[in-house]
Amino acid sequence: MSIGNKTFAIIKPDAVAAGNAGAILSLIEQNGFKVKGLRLQHLTLKEAEGFYAVHKGKGFFDELVAFMTEAPVVLLALEKENAVQAWRDLMGATNPEKAADGTVRKLYGTNIGRNASHGSDSDENAAIELAWFFRGSEIA
Ligand code: ADP
Ligand code: MG
Repeated sequence: MSIGNKTFAIIKPDAVAAGNAGAILSLIEQNGFKVKGLRLQHLTLKEAEGFYAVHKGKGFFDELVAFMTEAPVVLLALEKENAVQAWRDLMGATNPEKAADGTVRKLYGTNIGRNASHGSDSDENAAIELAWFFRGSEIA
């Protein structure tokens, strides 16, 4: 499995708390992704701050880490051809109001902050993010 075929995804606290994790997983599988790693985890502040370090200094950073730590998330390693772009396409635009019909964020997001899902933005970051959350032995 080459890295170009893998991406890292999070079903965010809003979607898990609302009981939408199963529906989102179904959508993922229906769209041809294979789930290669999966864990429910309640992120600590340190984990969320470290994961989103690239956004440190932005106006929404504190709101983002507070949101990401308010309830458990589902961490996912996904496999598909061109996985990074394919998952970003299925998630839709960052702002659910601008996301296309049928996308995860349109269906399950609330606003630009509480938008139901995360996806890596490049193969390089997918590798970094997968390694941040999964040991090699935890990915099938
Ligand atoms: P994406 O998740 O689509 O890659 P970004 O990397 O730009 O988007 O932002 C990371 C996350 O930070 C978003 O998914 C969203 O939860 C949050 N976020 C982004 N922009 C804003 C904003 N203007 N206000 C509040 N939260 C935001
Ligand atoms: Mg991003």
